[in-house]
Amino acid sequence: MDRQNFIRQIEDFTCEHCGALVNGTGYTNHCPECLWSKHVDNLPGDRLNPCGGLMEPVGLKLKGQEQDIIHRCVQCGETKVNKRADNDNSEAVLKLPIL
Ligand SMILES: [Zn+2]
Ligand SMILES: [Zn+2]
Repeated sequence: MDRQNFIRQIEDFTCEHCGALVNGTGYTNHCPECLWSKHVDNLPGDRLNPCGGLMEPVGLKLKGQEQDIIHRCVQCGETKVNKRADNDNSEAVLKLPIL
C-alpha cells in the first residue's frame, strides 16, 4: 500500500529547542513553552518548505485583541507571522518585544 501521499494533519512533536512534548492540534506550529517554531511550511500547514531550520520568536505584533508572534528562521533568516495560540506560555509571550 502506498502511504506516500498520506498527509498527517495532527502531529505531536518534541520541541527541538526546549525538549517539551507538544500535543499537535493540526494548527500547532510552535512550542507553547518556549515559542520556538520550525521552518517547515511555505503556507501554514503545508509542510512543504525544505529548510527545516529552527525559528526563533523575535517579537510580538498586536492587532486589536489578537497577538501575532513573529518568528525568524535561524538558518535562512526568513521571518513569518504566526497567530499566538491559546495555550502559549503567557510569561514567554510577555517577554517578547512588541514590534
Ligand atoms: Zn520549546
Ligand atoms: Zn528557514
